[in-house]
Amino acid sequence: MFKALFGDGKESKSSGNVKDKEPSSQDHAEPAPEALAKVMRVFGRYSFDLDHLEAADIEKEFERWAMHVLVGSTVSEDGEPLPGGRRDWGGLNRFVNTHRQHEKKYVAESLGDLRDVLLTFTQTIGKAVIEDQEADRHMVEHIGGLRNASEASSAEDMKRALLTAVGGISQLLEDRKQRQQAHVETLGSKLKKVQEELGQARKEMVLDPLTKLYNRAALDMQVERVVGLSFFSGTAASLIMVDIDHFKLVNDTYGHRAGDAILQQFADRLVTIFLRKSDFIARYGGEEMMVLLQGDGLMVSERIVERFLEAIRGTPFEHEGVEISITASAGLAELIPGESVASWIERADRALYQAKEAGRDRVCIASSEAIPA
Ligand code: GH3
Ligand code: MG
Ligand code: MG
Repeated sequence: MFKALFGDGKESKSSGNVKDKEPSSQDHAEPAPEALAKVMRVFGRYSFDLDHLEAADIEKEFERWAMHVLVGSTVSEDGEPLPGGRRDWGGLNRFVNTHRQHEKKYVAESLGDLRDVLLTFTQTIGKAVIEDQEADRHMVEHIGGLRNASEASSAEDMKRALLTAVGGISQLLEDRKQRQQAHVETLGSKLKKVQEELGQARKEMVLDPLTKLYNRAALDMQVERVVGLSFFSGTAASLIMVDIDHFKLVNDTYGHRAGDAILQQFADRLVTIFLRKSDFIARYGGEEMMVLLQGDGLMVSERIVERFLEAIRGTPFEHEGVEISITASAGLAELIPGESVASWIERADRALYQAKEAGRDRVCIASSEAIPA
């Protein structure tokens, strides 16, 4: 059966470049090994991260098998070639089979998680609406009680009715607060899983061509997500706005190309310091970058920023053999639960402005009060 499907495994004389060619009517005449290698490469190119396997590694595996099909090379780096350049069709079959099963399992689990979150959301919101309606009814009753109190004959009766109404309303408000807290906690625990999947989602985002950091649009999207998820999960998050000091002077002194080179090296240093999978680094615009940290409190974030600024001031940059020393300033804002995206970014921006005003080459912490819309 394999023979019929894959040909006899001998190399074809017409093996052209099979890499990225679109299907054409000529492909009908293509020998089976070439066609199969092409299919393997398509699978590899459009692979995605699985739980413990990166898409890039999966692509390499498919490429190894494609080469094996084409020229009979060994599949594993340390494996012995099969005698006579024979193809390991059984091995290929097992590889594709296992890979497909992993994909199916991963997709099923991810969909299951999302469905679970969605159901919890619907149930929680439905329950909250019913509870709130009931509480509102009680509130109306208490307000009615207050109205009656104003018509009571004696001061004593008036006082008693007033105290009952105030006590009742306070209790209702307290109950509502506790219910909301419980709802937020329920949703938060469910959202933890989705939060982990943020990492996967961001791989599809667009990079800035010069620095290879995420671009502004990607940053806006990620900030929205983090604000939304942190609200329910209670995970701490910090925004760091970093700006190179006197960068215009660098351009004026060393030229625009040197400026570009510095921007690239600056981005590389950011990546070396903020290296956790959950750290998100973007070019905000010009010589201004943003880092989004998740899970750390202000103190830890501040320490990492200090370390970064130290690395910038301590080691000169280099362009065409010329050493160029620069410094940078930063504004750090920890997300206040419930604050808007605009407020968070604005606070980081104001803190950066303070750092510049205070003499540059430093980090300033943003005020802990949200900025009203
Ligand atoms: P400050 O310390 O106040 O931040 O001063 P600054 O000179 O860094 O700030 P300013 O906003 O006056 O100038 C920013 C400069 O950054 C001007 C602009 O030409 C330069 N710049 C922005 N984007 C790029 C880029 O992609 N490449 C290069 N080479 N320069 C850029
Ligand atoms: Mg600047
Ligand atoms: Mg700037």
